[in-house]
Amino acid sequence: MPAGCYIDGVWVPTAATFEVTDPATRKVVGVAADAGPELASTAIGAAHGAFDKWADWTAQDRAEVMRRISAELLARLDHIADVIVSEQGKPRAQAIFEVRYATQWLGWFAEEGRRAYGEVVPSHVPGKRLIVQQKPLGVAVAVTPWNFPLAMIVRKLAPAMAAGCTMVVKPAEQTPLSAVALFQAIERADVPEGVCNLVTSSSPGSLAAPLLEDPRVRKITFTGSTEVGKLLVRASATNLARVSLELGGQAPFIVFDDADLDAAVEGALMSKFQVNGQSCLCANRIFVQDAVAKDFTARLAAAVSKLKVGAGAEEGVDVGPLIDDAGLQKVEAHVADALARGANVETGGGRAVANPDGCFFEPTVLSGCTDEMMCASDETFGPVAPVLTFQTEAEVITRANHTRYGLAAYVYTRDLGRAMRASERLEFGMVGVNDPMPASPTAPFGGFKESGLGREGGHDGLEAFLEKKLVSFVC
Ligand code: NAP
Repeated sequence: MPAGCYIDGVWVPTAATFEVTDPATRKVVGVAADAGPELASTAIGAAHGAFDKWADWTAQDRAEVMRRISAELLARLDHIADVIVSEQGKPRAQAIFEVRYATQWLGWFAEEGRRAYGEVVPSHVPGKRLIVQQKPLGVAVAVTPWNFPLAMIVRKLAPAMAAGCTMVVKPAEQTPLSAVALFQAIERADVPEGVCNLVTSSSPGSLAAPLLEDPRVRKITFTGSTEVGKLLVRASATNLARVSLELGGQAPFIVFDDADLDAAVEGALMSKFQVNGQSCLCANRIFVQDAVAKDFTARLAAAVSKLKVGAGAEEGVDVGPLIDDAGLQKVEAHVADALARGANVETGGGRAVANPDGCFFEPTVLSGCTDEMMCASDETFGPVAPVLTFQTEAEVITRANHTRYGLAAYVYTRDLGRAMRASERLEFGMVGVNDPMPASPTAPFGGFKESGLGREGGHDGLEAFLEKKLVSFVC
């Protein structure tokens, strides 16, 4: 793999590189270019230089380019999945899903780019014609996390390209190789020089000013923690670049006593243990109504105890390692806090001793949890399912909403009225009713409150890279 940054259509080597490790073994699996501020600035220059031409292309022609990227990703599906597994740790089947999911975003936005319609507005003055056009914003900078190291980039790149923007991507330092694999596909897809640029780095702080405060940058799009999101908003104030943020979550997963418990257990497994609990959409607090709490908890613990833990490359593994030691320690701290405050371990509860070389924690179910515990008041980002009980609908909605986050919520019930009421009152950007996977490239994805700003996906995802221009004709 090239250890360079992809700028203006070529791989640019850097004097410094940094090592990338496999969280399943803590062994080095590759090196990535360690770009400094100057190279970041060069990348912005390349994107800026390419913008006018790319913006002038028709949406159909841009769509062709995007479809070629998609085809290149699918042609190298096995290789890219291996790269994701080696640096992120997720099970191979989930890595393959991620590559396919990324291509769905390219496919959707290749089409949606054709629908950047303007308007003709009736004038208030005779002889005047008011025409509203949709214009691409310009150079966009994407800063992305490690949990979906390919898909999180493509979710930004696809709408940006479709809108006619050019882009500089800065991936997470834990997972730069997946980004390199994507840009190899971009290189093979014959994307015009300067439209897509990649800058990898081990010190994001040093790139913040050149990437985010350059007046040539008109859009900042970020997925990551709420804390870093707030830093980026401050940086964007320098030139009032437009900002989209996909931030942390604290998802409630509510099981009412009339729910189909088999479906609820299956949904909780999927929502909680996908990417080892390291997704912003993961169920973080599992609220179960009193009458079914014992039954649900026993069934969930039984299902969780059967999950196979191991390196993502191993056959049949359900749950891989956490991304690094900091992630592992956070999970340990949340479990220790819960136990000290009276929670019970139903299954799991400690480091996975069968896998001492990696950042493994046993898939865990805790019962007897309360709202004050760290596992119920902070984003655990790990394989811990805390079960909390409730009595009434009004009570659980109030408790579920009692968080600074508002990304995803889940409701399991067979009562249509209850489903409607709960989905209306939950203060979250996405609500899955009997559905553990509500996200789709075709629909708005994003959060209320401190979970973000703006939406990815659907027509809103395209709008995020467009700006309206009014042209008034007197003729
Ligand atoms: P993070 O620490 O905020 O990092 C995200 C990205 O920001 C990385 O590329 C990181 O680079 C970069 N970064 C860190 N400090 C920076 C700075 N001072 N200036 C500029 N860039 C900086 O988040 P994470 O730990 O990787 O990801 C986990 C968080 O992301 C969780 O809270 C999760 O909920 C959230 N998330 C949200 C969504 C969503 O769609 N809402 C999706 C996935 C994840 P380095 O890697 O080099 O530090």
